[in-house]
Amino acid sequence: MTAVMKPVNDSFRRELEELESAGMLRSMRTVTGPQRAATSVDGRPMLVMCSNNYLGLADHPRLAELAIELTKTYGCSAAASRLISGTMSPHRRLEAELAYFKGTEAALVFNCGYMANLAVLSTVVAAGDAIFSDELNHASIVDGCRLSRAEVYVYRHADAGHLEELLAACGAACRRRLIVTDSVFSMDGDLAPLPAIVALAEKYDALLLVDDAHATGVLGPGGRGSCAHFGIAPERVDFLMGTLGKALGSCGAFVAARLPLIDFLVNRARPFIYTTALPPGAIGASLAALALLAEEPEMVDELRRKTAVFRAGVRRLGFAMPDDPTPIVPVVIGESVTTMAVSRRLLEAGIFVQGIRPPTVAPGRSLLRFTVTRDLRAADLDRALEILGREAAIISGQAGREPETGVVPTGPQVSRIGGQ
Ligand SMILES: *Cc1c(COP(=O)(O)O)cnc(C)c1O
Repeated sequence: MTAVMKPVNDSFRRELEELESAGMLRSMRTVTGPQRAATSVDGRPMLVMCSNNYLGLADHPRLAELAIELTKTYGCSAAASRLISGTMSPHRRLEAELAYFKGTEAALVFNCGYMANLAVLSTVVAAGDAIFSDELNHASIVDGCRLSRAEVYVYRHADAGHLEELLAACGAACRRRLIVTDSVFSMDGDLAPLPAIVALAEKYDALLLVDDAHATGVLGPGGRGSCAHFGIAPERVDFLMGTLGKALGSCGAFVAARLPLIDFLVNRARPFIYTTALPPGAIGASLAALALLAEEPEMVDELRRKTAVFRAGVRRLGFAMPDDPTPIVPVVIGESVTTMAVSRRLLEAGIFVQGIRPPTVAPGRSLLRFTVTRDLRAADLDRALEILGREAAIISGQAGREPETGVVPTGPQVSRIGGQ
């Protein structure tokens, strides 16, 4: 019997063709080895410099061992949502550990950061309330804002002055106000002005949600995150969100907060309530990552040292490079066609790094988003810099200029989300 394929509506094909002719078609590369810096991609040896595996824990034997142990003890699945029968002792243990790690009264585990952001935003504020959101916040925050039906005021990137203008203009008209920001911005690796934002939240009686996806395991002593980095008492942030799938090498996410706020989320947050809980194995990997971090807090310093070395090396090649203490290293190339060509040539040379184009970044500001992970050796960083150096020479040759002027287009940033 031969099956007749149902025809695909032409509009899908047309849209894909339009993306392709605009050079915007996306496709996926396959990592064919373990998730670590020196691995293979599409079957070829490769140095991965675009993952968020900052501490290099994703393939750490301790994580795998506890994942296996909890899988053998508790099974492969949580088999239900958290409020039905999916809350198991490993989940409870992880939540206690996360609250301790963040210095808060309680914590709640979510299946991923995307859902954690949707959960807080769609639950804590609603129609008649106001959200104040940085223009470069992560897409999951943008989607959470939409889902909330609250009025959304987008402030200029990392601009506490503009945030205050909007807060002042809003007055007491709305029932609840909520400020939301990434602490480390995911494309440029820069920091939000958190001390100023915390002060504004208190002055204007607004709730505050801080997204520590790229700060957990990265910023502050022992990788405790943005509050620890800035010396801000964690109770001054109402909702501290963090992820387990980046520096912590596992998967899932959490919100750390005071107990009544956690209870509120448990009772109201649909992205928490209506989904099957994480399996015990994933929880085991997260528990092992937290234990490792407590035993070896200096691994965070090692990451910071390697990051500083790489940032300095990129700067020496003539690229504009800020001094941010994060392993997200944006190398601005400029035009998206050039950026994608450079990223292709880097791949041929054995370095896997993604080009980031509009609308994710402003037009003319396409960049290579390099990330530094702790498992990159000094020789790996040298090699990456050498290969990138060849590209800097090609680009400046094409532009007929010296690298200093040819590869440093730091134009204004515009909102990458459009219609936040
Ligand atoms: C990755 C990321 C998320 C989403 O986390 P997942 O666990 O991958 O769903 C949320 N916010 C920011 C800033 C992120 O970078």
